[in-house]
Amino acid sequence: MAEDMTTPLLSDSEAPADADAPSVCLTSPTVAILGSGDFSRSLAVRLVASGVRVVVGSRCVNRLPSGLFPEAVELRNQEGAVSQGVCLVFMALFPEHYHSLMGLRSALAGKVLVDVSNAEEIKINGLSNAERLAELFPDSIVVKGFNTISTWELQTGAHDGSKQVLICSNSTEGKKKVVQLSRQMGFHPVDMGGLSSAREIEVAPLRLFPSWSGPVVVTFLLFLFFYGYGFLRGILLPFLAQGQNAFYRLAVDLVNESLPAVALVTLALVYFPGLFAAWLQLWRGTKYRRFPSWLDNWLQRRKQLGLLSFLCAALHGVYSLCRPLRRVTLLRLVNTAYRQVKAGTEEPWDELGVWRSELYLSCGVLGLGVLSLLAITSLPSVGNSLNWREFTFVQSSLGYIALTLSIMHTLFFGWDFAFHIEAYPFYMPPSYLLAVVLPCIVLVCRCFLLLPCIFTRLTRIRRGWESKRYCPVLQHHHVVANGIP
Ligand code: NAP
Repeated sequence: MAEDMTTPLLSDSEAPADADAPSVCLTSPTVAILGSGDFSRSLAVRLVASGVRVVVGSRCVNRLPSGLFPEAVELRNQEGAVSQGVCLVFMALFPEHYHSLMGLRSALAGKVLVDVSNAEEIKINGLSNAERLAELFPDSIVVKGFNTISTWELQTGAHDGSKQVLICSNSTEGKKKVVQLSRQMGFHPVDMGGLSSAREIEVAPLRLFPSWSGPVVVTFLLFLFFYGYGFLRGILLPFLAQGQNAFYRLAVDLVNESLPAVALVTLALVYFPGLFAAWLQLWRGTKYRRFPSWLDNWLQRRKQLGLLSFLCAALHGVYSLCRPLRRVTLLRLVNTAYRQVKAGTEEPWDELGVWRSELYLSCGVLGLGVLSLLAITSLPSVGNSLNWREFTFVQSSLGYIALTLSIMHTLFFGWDFAFHIEAYPFYMPPSYLLAVVLPCIVLVCRCFLLLPCIFTRLTRIRRGWESKRYCPVLQHHHVVANGIP
C-alpha cells in the first residue's frame, strides 16, 4: 500500500483548476515539512498520493538514506525547504526542539505552521505546544492539527477508512487552508475553534477509552459482587459448615452464574437513568432545568453499559453451551442414569421440569437475539442509517423487550424454587433473585410512565410546557395581564 502511494495521483499539470480554491496552497500545492522522522515520512507519502508537491527540510540532508522518502519529494536543508514559496509548513518535530528553528523566524513569517505534536501527559498546566509555538513565531499563523492521526493511519491511504482531523487556530484563513488540505488527503476535518482548544486536541491521543472507564468499573464491580456472593453462599459457607468441597465450581459454574446477573443489572442500569430523568421532569414540571451532572454523565454512558451487558449475556450463552462438555456433567449424567436403573424407574419424564427448561431457554435465546440487535444498531455506521424514530424504537422499545425477556428467562430459571426454604442457605437468597430486583423496578416505573395521565403530562413538558411553580416570569405576566399588581 505504501509503495502505491509514492507516486502522485494527480500531477501538477493535471490538477483540475478549482474556481473556488482561494489560496496559493491549493492552486500551487507545495507543502514543506520540517523534520525527517517517522511522522514526516508518512505525511510525505500521503501528501504525494494526494497530488501535493512536498519539500522536506532536514538539519542534515546528506544523512538521509536514499529511498527513505518517495521520489517525488524534494529534500532540502531547513532553510531551503521553507523558502520555496511554500505557505504551509508542517512542524514534524518534537516541541522541545522548536526553539532550534528560531533562525528561520523571518523565513517562516506569514506562513501557516501546522503543529502536529502530542502532549506528553494528560494533566499539564500552562500553555499548549501550539500556543508556545505561536509565542515563538508571532509573525506566523499557527494551526493545531493532524496529531490525532498516527503514522500508520497516514500510510494506509484514503480508501482504508478516513479519520477525523481535529483542527484549531486563531486564524480563520490559516484554518481554512489546513481544512482544505486535510479534505484533499481524504480526512474529515473538524473545526475545534481557537488555539485555546489546542491542549484538548494534544491530549486526545493519550486518553484511554475515556467514555468506557465508568461503565467498565461498574460492570467489573457488579461481577465481583455476584461472584463473591455466589462464592460465599454456594462454596465457602457450605465448606465451613458441612465440609462440602465444591471449589471446582469456581471456574465455570460460578462465572456462569454471575455473568447473567451482571448482564441483567447492567441492562437495567441502561434504562434506569432515563426513567429517573423522566420522573425528575414530572416532579419539577419543566424540562428547562438542567439535570444534576452525575445523571447527565450516566445518561451519556448508556450505550457503553448496553454493550457491556450484551458482552456478559453473550459470554453467559457461550459458557452455557460449553457446560455439557464438562467432565462433571458427564459424571452426573451417568450417576443419575445408574440411580434410576437401580431404583427401577422407567419413565423419568418430568412434565413441569421440561416446560420450565423449554421456556427459560427460549426466553434467554430471544433476549440475547434482541440484545444483539441493540448492539448492532449502536455501531455508528448502522445507527447513522436510521432516522431518529427508528433509532429510538430500536434502542428504547426493543430495549425494554430485551429487558422483559431477560427477566422472564431468570424467573423461568428460578421457577418456584425461590419459595422453598432450601433456596436460602445461611439466610442468603440466590443471586438471580438479587439480580432481578432492579430490572423489575425499572419495568414497573416504565409501566407507570405509560399511564395516560402521567404520559400526557410528560409529553407536554417535553414539548416545552412548564408548570407555573417553576415559571415565575410567565406567572408575573399572567398577574399583570389580569390587572392585579
Ligand atoms: P521522530 O521520528 O523522532 O522525528 C523527529 C524529527 O525532528 C527528527 O527526525 C529530526 O529530523 C527533527 N528535528 C529537528 N530539529 C531537531 C532537533 N533540534 N533535535 C532533534 N530532532 C530534530 O519523531 P516523530 O515520530 O516523527 O514525531 C514528530 C512529531 O510528530 C512529534 O511532535 C510527535 O508528537 C508528532 N506525532 C507523531 C506521531 C507518530 O505516530 N509518530 C503521530 C502524531 C503526532 P532532521 O534530523 O531531519 O532534522
